[in-house]
Amino acid sequence: MDPNLLPPEILDAERGFPQALEACTDLDALMRVKGLYTGRDDSHAVRMMELLKVAPKEQKRALGAAINGLKNLWEEGLKARQGELETARRQANSLATSWDPDLPPPLPTRGALHPLNRLMDRLIDIFRPLGYHVEEGPEAESEANNFDGLNIPEDHPARGSADTFYFSAHKGRLLRTHTSPVQVRVLQRVAPDIERLGGIRFLAPGRVYRKDEIDPTHSPMFHQVEGMLVGHDIGMQHLKGTLAYAMKALFGPGADVRFRPSYFPFVEPGCEVDVRCPLCGGSGCRVCKGSGWVEILGAGLIHPNVLTFAGLDPKIWSGFAFGMGVERTAMMVSQTPDLRLFFENDQRFLMTMGGLD
Ligand SMILES: [Zn+2]
Repeated sequence: MDPNLLPPEILDAERGFPQALEACTDLDALMRVKGLYTGRDDSHAVRMMELLKVAPKEQKRALGAAINGLKNLWEEGLKARQGELETARRQANSLATSWDPDLPPPLPTRGALHPLNRLMDRLIDIFRPLGYHVEEGPEAESEANNFDGLNIPEDHPARGSADTFYFSAHKGRLLRTHTSPVQVRVLQRVAPDIERLGGIRFLAPGRVYRKDEIDPTHSPMFHQVEGMLVGHDIGMQHLKGTLAYAMKALFGPGADVRFRPSYFPFVEPGCEVDVRCPLCGGSGCRVCKGSGWVEILGAGLIHPNVLTFAGLDPKIWSGFAFGMGVERTAMMVSQTPDLRLFFENDQRFLMTMGGLD
């Protein structure tokens, strides 16, 4: 076929023909394409025949051959596509008629809360009867709330860009590295009214971010639950009583708890809280690394500088704070060896998290 014999609109139609066929998903659509290309009224084929009528005599022969070639091509394409669509329709019909009313219906999979959310909800339920409510804060925080307000010194390594995600376009802004800035926000908010309130107690669950490589025990994003209580004459005895109660509620009434001195800039004194390994009962296993104990919480009495920064007089007010890594605890409760499983959304894993129900 000599393409010079045919006008551009016909050549365009010819180029678009394979896609037009491909786009037909049922026979009705195919009939519309058929009408457009080879139909009796106002189709590309009809227009080509009109061209042939008015063509100069010496061109008629070549033009006629070109038109016939094109028409045959279109008719064959339409016929083949029609066959495909008819086969597909027959198969769909035979599936529909092979339906057996005696078979049990397919049951939809029921959705459920993520294991990490279930654990956080359980902690909230444990603390709610003690008068704690839930507070939240933004994940994009200021350096002041994330570090300054928590008595973390200027030269502390956690402030470095090797550990913390900073926003390059916003000086002094970062992704919070712990849920503790919620302490700063809440204390500042309630400070003017704290006399009337008589103190405050709350939990702050949420996501936090650190520049860690992803491996079986690290992720650049993970969850914490923070807790804080402020009142009058609060001491270590209140902290120990509260956390021992909470750990027994979480791990069972037989749970053994121990407190070890530790250091965090925002508490004084600070401690770490261990629970006797719920997997081996203390005899030593892989999870507790043979020690018989697993670290669950960091805690301590609120540092006077933290109270002062928020506008509270540390001579009048005192309190305690604690923080827990949610993934860490969930891994232990459910005996999950790899933190990444929590974020991969494999339903087989999510549905067998029996330890967290
Ligand atoms: Zn163990």
